Amino acid sequence: MLFNYLQWLGVIFFMSNKLILILNCGSSSIKFSVFGFVDMKKYLFGVVEFFSFQHVHIQWQCNGAKKCKILDSLNSLEEILDFVIDAILMKELKILGELFAVGHRIVHGGPHFIESVIIDANVLRGIKSAISFAPLHNPFHLIGIKKIFAKFPNLLHKSVAVFDTAFHQSIPEESYLYPLPYFLYKKYGIRRYGAHGISHSYVLQESTKFLSKSRDSLNIITCHLGNGSSISAIRNGRCVDTSMGLTPLEGLVMGTRCGDIDPSIVFYLYEHLNMSLQDIKKIFTEQSGLLGLSGGISHDCRDIEKNYFNVSSSSHRAINVFCYRLSKYIGAYSVLMEGKLDALVFTGGIGENSVLIRKLTLQKVKFLNFILDDHLNSSIRYGKSGIITTSSSCPVIVIPTNEDLVIAKDVVNLLK
Ligand code: ADP
Repeated sequence: MLFNYLQWLGVIFFMSNKLILILNCGSSSIKFSVFGFVDMKKYLFGVVEFFSFQHVHIQWQCNGAKKCKILDSLNSLEEILDFVIDAILMKELKILGELFAVGHRIVHGGPHFIESVIIDANVLRGIKSAISFAPLHNPFHLIGIKKIFAKFPNLLHKSVAVFDTAFHQSIPEESYLYPLPYFLYKKYGIRRYGAHGISHSYVLQESTKFLSKSRDSLNIITCHLGNGSSISAIRNGRCVDTSMGLTPLEGLVMGTRCGDIDPSIVFYLYEHLNMSLQDIKKIFTEQSGLLGLSGGISHDCRDIEKNYFNVSSSSHRAINVFCYRLSKYIGAYSVLMEGKLDALVFTGGIGENSVLIRKLTLQKVKFLNFILDDHLNSSIRYGKSGIITTSSSCPVIVIPTNEDLVIAKDVVNLLK
């Protein structure tokens, strides 16, 4: 009797628990999560990493239980998605509830999208037309979108695209134009688009709580420091400049990407070292940044930090260049704050966790009156958020990013 009752309760919960799938398909990884449409609770999340289709590593966590699967005989991204949907999602959804909507993270929206949209044929065309700006992302997003349509035809009008570039569409012409012949912008759309917009917008929203100010009145600088890194200047709650450009290669030093360099280096490598354009692209995107500066030790900040205090080491050199360049951007963006910087915010794997990078960077921008509290700096990491400066200083806030939540909220806002 009791068993029957509990079974019925389970059925009622299942039928009433509407869920949102968040999907982020890339060239070497797929991230997925499932949120409740009403309670915004994250019930499931997972990541698929694949350097080749013969070596696919999937980890996921559902209601606290961690699971893992290694596959070695797949042939395409479609087959990986089939496995994720059929063998993981369908199975877990039987217990969690009913899939009601999906949010796709789209890295590059080109000039077309200034906000999240419900996906239709026009949106698909827009994502396709930005492929040349994000060849390692947009083609894979399209595969993900089509796969979900094929597996869940009921989600046809409940699929939302959330763009990393949308948050930066507020930046003014003087910031998004490159000093190149104007027709390159007008005819071919060559301009600054930025990236990581979902993360910058999340930490902006969260900052309102720490500073007790409305979003529209906030002047902050947000540093998203991870394998890919970018920094944004946000004035009166709107992005006015950001370090990533036409593609996510410009700006700060990254794990393997070079960030800002003299464009003539391309000509030098091509003309004097006889490198092909393919080789040069590989150097700039896969062999530079922390990995390149450290002489190939690692792209991972944790590995490099270990040897930082050996001042003649390549790790010392790599971290110093990283922090030096970051501090230059902070200085430059402080000029855009019209005399009043409310806070500096750190997020991303490095920003959220690296006590060393935060300390070294703040030491280089003393003129902004950041007075670090060493105890707070050491204790606010591993998922904690908080202010790491003394009360007499301009606040520096650490905020763990939560891009999936932003996507889930946009899905709800568009579909409710
Ligand atoms: P992605 O851009 O791939 O999303 P993440 O935001 O996860 O990257 O950040 C990855 C980076 O964060 C790596 O360089 C990693 O070393 C760094 N990181 C993670 N934890 C720590 C830590 N405890 N100390 C220093 N760096 C860390």
